[in-house]
Amino acid sequence: MLTSLMERDVVIIGAGAAGLMCAIEAGRRGRRASVIDHSGKAGQKIRVSGGGNCNFTNLNTGPEHYISQNPHFCKSALSRFTPGDVISLLVKHGIGYHEKENGQLFCDEGSGSIINIIRKEGEAAGVQIHLNCRISGTRKQEFFNVATSRGTFLSKSLVIATGGLSYPKIGATGFGHKVAENFGLKVTPLRPALVPLTFNRKDLSIFSELSGVSVKAKVGCNNKEFYGNILFTHKGLSGPAILQISSYWNNGDTIHIDLLPDFNIRETFIEKRQSRMEMKNLLALYFPKRFIQKWCELYIRSKPVYQYADKDIEDIVRRLKNWEIKPAGSEGYSSAEVTLGGVDTNELSSKTMEAKKVPGLYFIGEVVDVTGQLGGYNLQWAWASGHAAGQFV
Ligand SMILES: Cc1cc2nc3c(=O)[nH]c(=O)nc-3n(C[C@H](O)[C@H](O)[C@H](O)COP(=O)(O)OP(=O)(O)OC[C@H]3O[C@@H](n4cnc5c(N)ncnc54)[C@H](O)[C@@H]3O)c2cc1C
Repeated sequence: MLTSLMERDVVIIGAGAAGLMCAIEAGRRGRRASVIDHSGKAGQKIRVSGGGNCNFTNLNTGPEHYISQNPHFCKSALSRFTPGDVISLLVKHGIGYHEKENGQLFCDEGSGSIINIIRKEGEAAGVQIHLNCRISGTRKQEFFNVATSRGTFLSKSLVIATGGLSYPKIGATGFGHKVAENFGLKVTPLRPALVPLTFNRKDLSIFSELSGVSVKAKVGCNNKEFYGNILFTHKGLSGPAILQISSYWNNGDTIHIDLLPDFNIRETFIEKRQSRMEMKNLLALYFPKRFIQKWCELYIRSKPVYQYADKDIEDIVRRLKNWEIKPAGSEGYSSAEVTLGGVDTNELSSKTMEAKKVPGLYFIGEVVDVTGQLGGYNLQWAWASGHAAGQFV
């Protein structure tokens, strides 16, 4: 039972992957750790992650899979708590996992099993978790003072692990960014990332009927390219390749889509140069029917292949290899998996995650300006940065 004044060694605000990992590590070191969250459940984002199966890490974890104003910042924490360390935790608790593709590891038994591991490890480390706990103020005098609906917490260390702005329906807020600013720390510009992109009005009227159709493609923008499915939605484009490129796309940019990344369509056209087959029937061999019907209707006048002039064939190849779309925007934080930007890494120690200007104040996880690509990199950053701070709080 909470008394009105709680003295702890460390108070962690945010019971997500980063905050809970930090608490476990601090607790193992004998620190009295309390985790506070306004939500009624711990680990809500872990629960929804990976479509409920939790893509908990990626075997290819490395700084090249993260976006930050300082691309070197994540290296220290990531090298001290690796995908192998996360796997060891699953193995210790007898939880199976499997690799899907590109090093992405998923739980065999759903994301709840990861939350159970974290809960058990937290209990063993003596961590206290206070849910449904609203915070009314944080300040620093001799100790950090966190006033909440369930009493006041005093601690030597305060860790902010409140994540980004995405998915407000499960508890995301800008609390951590505000705390940083109140303590005089810079926050880099924030925007939704790993998010579906929306069509402009004209494209929407053309493509909305393709909602549900998925095409394997390579999507590029601003010198980045991702290979994977693109999915037509009733608002625009989604699917792994689009989510990935959304983190590199800025308002007004055009995205370039190679609709046949695995295939030399020019060679096929040369082989079939004298064919009497209709172009749309030939292309239908490589695409979902609904998609290619619409595409042909828009960009080519279908006729037997032999009737095309060479320059028309070249034009079709060009359009297939570089279909250009200028999105109107993104679906925003309500659909974004993560927030790009956060507490400026120049303000923090990459070894401890402590604020250079405010001793005892730490920022970990998604609230920091370190954003992973799709594929388990964001949870790995949350675990690793939480673990890093947990060794010093
Ligand atoms: C739908 C979805 C699917 C995803 N799938 C994956 C995936 O498969 N693999 C992957 O690596 N990443 C995935 N991510 C991203 C990943 O879940 C996050 O990057 C990661 O969980 C962030 O961890 P965190 O601990 O920093 O923050 P969070 O998990 O967001 O935790 C922050 C905590 O702070 C609490 N909080 C916020 N504001 C306050 C406040 N004012 N007072 C008190 N408490 C507060 C919140 O309730 C929350 O519990 C996904 C994200 C979403 C939205």
